[in-house]
Amino acid sequence: MAKKQFKTESKKMLDMMINSIYTHKEIFLRELISNASDAIDKRYFLSLTNPDAGLKKSDYAIILKTDKENRTITVRDNGCGMTEDELEKNLGTIAKSGSFDFKHDNEKTKDVDIIGQFGVGFYSAFMVGDKITVKSRSVNGDKAFVWESTGADGYSVSECDFETVGSEITIHLKEDTESEKYSEFLEAFRIEELVKKYSDYIRYPIKMDVETSRKKEGTENEYETVVENKTLNSMVPIWHRPQSKVSDEEYKNFYCEKFFDYQSPAKVIRTKSEGTVSYEALLFIPQKAPFDYYTKNFEKGLQLYSNGVMIMEKCPDLLPDYFSFVKGLVDSEDFTLNISRETLQHDHQLKIIAKNITKKIKNELEKMMEKDRENYEKFFDEFGIQLKYGVYADYGKDKDVLKDLLLFHTSAEDNYVSLKTYTERMKDGQKDIYYACGETTDKIDMLPQVGAVKAKGFEVLYLTDDIDEFVLMTLMNYADKKFTNVCADNLDISTEEEKNALKEENEKSEELLKFMKDSLDGAVTSVKFTNTLGSHPVCLSTEGGISTEMEKVLSKMPGNGFAPKAEIVLEINMEHSIANTLKSLYESDKDKIKEYSKILYTMARLISGLPVENPTELSNMVCNLM
Ligand code: ADP
Repeated sequence: MAKKQFKTESKKMLDMMINSIYTHKEIFLRELISNASDAIDKRYFLSLTNPDAGLKKSDYAIILKTDKENRTITVRDNGCGMTEDELEKNLGTIAKSGSFDFKHDNEKTKDVDIIGQFGVGFYSAFMVGDKITVKSRSVNGDKAFVWESTGADGYSVSECDFETVGSEITIHLKEDTESEKYSEFLEAFRIEELVKKYSDYIRYPIKMDVETSRKKEGTENEYETVVENKTLNSMVPIWHRPQSKVSDEEYKNFYCEKFFDYQSPAKVIRTKSEGTVSYEALLFIPQKAPFDYYTKNFEKGLQLYSNGVMIMEKCPDLLPDYFSFVKGLVDSEDFTLNISRETLQHDHQLKIIAKNITKKIKNELEKMMEKDRENYEKFFDEFGIQLKYGVYADYGKDKDVLKDLLLFHTSAEDNYVSLKTYTERMKDGQKDIYYACGETTDKIDMLPQVGAVKAKGFEVLYLTDDIDEFVLMTLMNYADKKFTNVCADNLDISTEEEKNALKEENEKSEELLKFMKDSLDGAVTSVKFTNTLGSHPVCLSTEGGISTEMEKVLSKMPGNGFAPKAEIVLEINMEHSIANTLKSLYESDKDKIKEYSKILYTMARLISGLPVENPTELSNMVCNLM
């Protein structure tokens, strides 16, 4: 029988397994049992449309066997089995397994990481075995075949005797060395332990003949050794077990294995309903966004089970986009197994479940924000932007669900503040919710207008994400308070007296201000005196609905050549000495005013974080001045 070579990728994977320094070699058993369980799922699924292909449900099982003499472990299942072709395709290549693509991008990563992060499947058997034999009879074939390999030198496939549909994987264990005791896997108690640890929730019985000693019948203290065919796993899926009986460790193992994460989930959510639609859901919020989360390749969705059998790997309709980071599953006996994707999409029950789940997630996040603030902030750093897009999307149709989950940076001591907390601690006499935009909180903190509002004792939200201001525009108000950009010219934080003084000053200097505006050749819509700048000489503010930050964002959007422009006002501090200089120069040297207007305007742009259109001109003007 001619040896065939493994495909390149498979060969590398194989090398990695054979030479693995991975300390958790024991996971090989979990991998083989999972494959067996998947194979039974497939056969069960097939039998729904073709009853002849299946068995009685109670007859499905995974049988483990150890043989100390021959140093072998055998995993046998009565699943779908494999044809000759499938043996070649599935065990000769790692074509579809995601693990390898990953490895390519990261040649230098230690094998430890890859094993921790992804299932490694069938090949993991080579971590403990030097020869693997797979006998299989497919549910779709009339012959049985055996696949055999001693590792890197290739594999062979030939016909064999194998009576029943299913597969049998036999691992011939490597010899023990100083540091590695492979023989431990021949001990029944060790196998039992591994099944409990990794495969307890497998829905089919995992059976093994186990020797136990028991009291001889009719005797006082004589013992005998008997062989008991024992089911090693509890079989009850983790989500069917009472909440109090599942440890954090078990949730973590389940989550990491099922959803290819290597960090424990930030939050586990369980919910259950027995009303018009009955279902159980087990949901996880990851600590970190998956690497492709913010790309269009990411697919949201929950696994859908019908009575413990998975019917859909990713059901997108169960999650709104703004909660697309949630992983997990829904199990409902109300779904029939052979339901098709199309019918599911319109399924009324599915909609009800989705609605309930969304509500549950929202409530749990709110609770987390209140009771576990530190972790909520970590969560928000990771996924907050998704919630913000959720507010803004679809003309704000979901804004009420999301508004209390939002956090913003703030001028107060805290790193973040929620809108609820902000409004609850608003000062007497404060009418609006104040905010300012900029690249970083430090830069925002230095804005003259922010200083002025803070000086009055008011808190300011610091918006650093492009989308933040759009979020506030979509919300329109919170607790009947409207949002006001402190850099807009309608900022109203002055007393009546201050307002009157300002009005008078502006009226008196109308000509000067108009002259300055004209000197700026249309760069601003007006020039005004102001009294809310503290010690700062100038700033820019905006009139109308478009702020300078929004203008920046809008102009960056593709195809937006006609993005609306902010209407810019140059504000001059009437209490600053520069105001008097301008007033007296207007009488004596109008040309100077022209130049000074430009300098002041450019300075104000710099303070607002806007680009300077002509730096050379500015430089020349300042040199002239000196
Ligand atoms: P994965 O399970 O991640 O797809 P594996 O390397 O573990 O990768 O297995 C490759 C493929 O071989 C599986 O997808 C499956 O089609 C097939 N396979 C493995 N074990 C069995 C089995 N016991 N019965 C039937 N098919 C199997």
